[in-house]
Amino acid sequence: MKHNKVIAIGRNYAAHAQELNNPIPDEPLLFMKPSTAIVPFEEPIDVSSVAQPVHYELEIAVLLGKDLKNADAVDALNGIDGLGLALDLTLRQLQDELKSKGQPWEKAKAFDGSCPVSQFIALGEQDLRHVPLELQINGEVRQSATSADMLMPITELIQYASQFFTLCAGDIVLTGTPAGVGVLKAGDQLQARLGNMLQVSTHVV
Ligand code: ZN
Repeated sequence: MKHNKVIAIGRNYAAHAQELNNPIPDEPLLFMKPSTAIVPFEEPIDVSSVAQPVHYELEIAVLLGKDLKNADAVDALNGIDGLGLALDLTLRQLQDELKSKGQPWEKAKAFDGSCPVSQFIALGEQDLRHVPLELQINGEVRQSATSADMLMPITELIQYASQFFTLCAGDIVLTGTPAGVGVLKAGDQLQARLGNMLQVSTHVV
């Protein structure tokens, strides 16, 4: 399926908002990544070409199989084609500079290759409200949470986003990152897991 855009949400896990000293927003904070940000998850992450440290954020990724506009809860659920994992790679220093000036985040969030995405697994009987995700780096657990910890659950997030943008079949929704984000260093080995549905790995060069 051709991916058109990536819709992402900031601060959807309270513990992550707190670790970056950000207030928990009253309204979901949405941003986008273009299709040029999307790369296969397993492709090595090259941090050498970027002048700033690259931070990782592991997120549950949702692939949409239908176009959605002003979706209700049933449309949102039926619109989900599969679940996967993504990294929302972020230039945190630049993001902090842009935030302090009240400017948009795209330069820090939407650069080429900033969205490694795994394959997508059909939903099946999976309860969307209890999907565990975990990221290990060099064998150490850095991020571990479940979708139950989200401030806005997955289907509500799809409904909400579809009020502002027409979501297209092939679009990917990133659902926010739990606590434990940090910097990627050359040589890091990343292993990510979506419950027992999916396991994917990559490394940093
Ligand atoms: Zn994120």
